Amino acid sequence: MEDVVSRARAAFTTHIGKAPRWLASAPGRVNLIGEFTDFNDGFVLPMALERRTVIAAAPNGTPDKIVLRSEATGETVTSSLAEPLAPEAKGRWSNYPKGVVAGFLERGIRLQGFDAVIDSSVPIGAGLSSSAALETATATLLEALSGVRLEPVDKILLCQKAEHTFAGVPCGIMDQFISALGQKDQVMLLDCRSREPTWLPWTDSAVAVLVINTNVKHELSSSGYADRRRSCENAAKVMGVPSLREATLEKLQQVSGSLDDMSIRCARHVIGEIERTARAGECIRRSDWSEFGRLMGESHASLRDDYAVSCFELDTAVEIAQSIGKAGGVFGCRMTGGGFGGCAVALIETRARDAIVRQVGAAYRERTRIEATLFVSRPAEGASVVTL
Ligand code: ADP
Ligand code: MG
Repeated sequence: MEDVVSRARAAFTTHIGKAPRWLASAPGRVNLIGEFTDFNDGFVLPMALERRTVIAAAPNGTPDKIVLRSEATGETVTSSLAEPLAPEAKGRWSNYPKGVVAGFLERGIRLQGFDAVIDSSVPIGAGLSSSAALETATATLLEALSGVRLEPVDKILLCQKAEHTFAGVPCGIMDQFISALGQKDQVMLLDCRSREPTWLPWTDSAVAVLVINTNVKHELSSSGYADRRRSCENAAKVMGVPSLREATLEKLQQVSGSLDDMSIRCARHVIGEIERTARAGECIRRSDWSEFGRLMGESHASLRDDYAVSCFELDTAVEIAQSIGKAGGVFGCRMTGGGFGGCAVALIETRARDAIVRQVGAAYRERTRIEATLFVSRPAEGASVVTL
């Protein structure tokens, strides 16, 4: 963590030629359980990672010139506050911070010209939400620059809107929520129906989270996610409930004659996953790591067999971690995020971390010929800013 802060600071001095005034930062996140439950009004259980996006910045003495540089891309983008901000081509990284700037201007908040240099220890595009980290770090910087503190939920919605309208990604609310508000030693059980977060203390430092980045990303036909979402909505409609949050497996069974196979499988995953996520929250309260690990295993099987979003590399990583078992310090493992690559997450005993990292890395390399990236984290702090 200190590393990326000093890197951002040094890069600012190199490229801008003076010291920064602010260091704003925000974490990536991992969802421990609760996959594809968000748009079904269910629960998710994310935690902020000890991996952050850091923005070193200072006013540049102009009323309206914004200079943004990312160390990840090596690119510098200049824009002007004097003209209405518009999104650049889809896929351009600067859409994320520019969308956040636009959100501040929309609220009538006065900004001034500034230079900013971004560096990050969050893997980019791996499902650990480097995008939300970039948005919430930008919003936190702009709060310091303008002297206006946004209401937390307004800040989260501003960042989400930046991702929707500038980056063109129709994301849910979880990523911005946890990146903005994450708390050390706590995980967040977010009810996506009421948007109420419940903070669950996880002070037992003998247990930590292992993130296994498979370092693959298979392209899913762009309709894949939308098809599954429609199947969920269809199942809810046929059951006569507003969302799958109100459904039960019994109800699903009763209407199964009037549903296609895809709708049954998607709904079965989501209904089970909402229940598992609520129960996993209870496990954290009781420090019942064995049961939490078992629920992770069930979640993975359901994502693989019913929702059908896993892939060879994710299944391999999960199998390897699961085969180490409790005796070797692994309570459970599952894929996390959208699937078809990205990351798996495991719950492990902190004291066994080095051996587990070595073992999983070696076995994954042997079975896939791919080098995984692994790191261990405890629940970390959300977005913050330091004025130098
Ligand atoms: P994830 O959020 O899981 O990492 P996304 O595809 O949602 O994956 O977001 C990744 C995109 O966010 C990148 O392609 C890039 O446009 C932008 N991004 C995130 N972090 C940075 C960064 N440090 N520098 C530049 N762009 C970044
Ligand atoms: Mg993202």
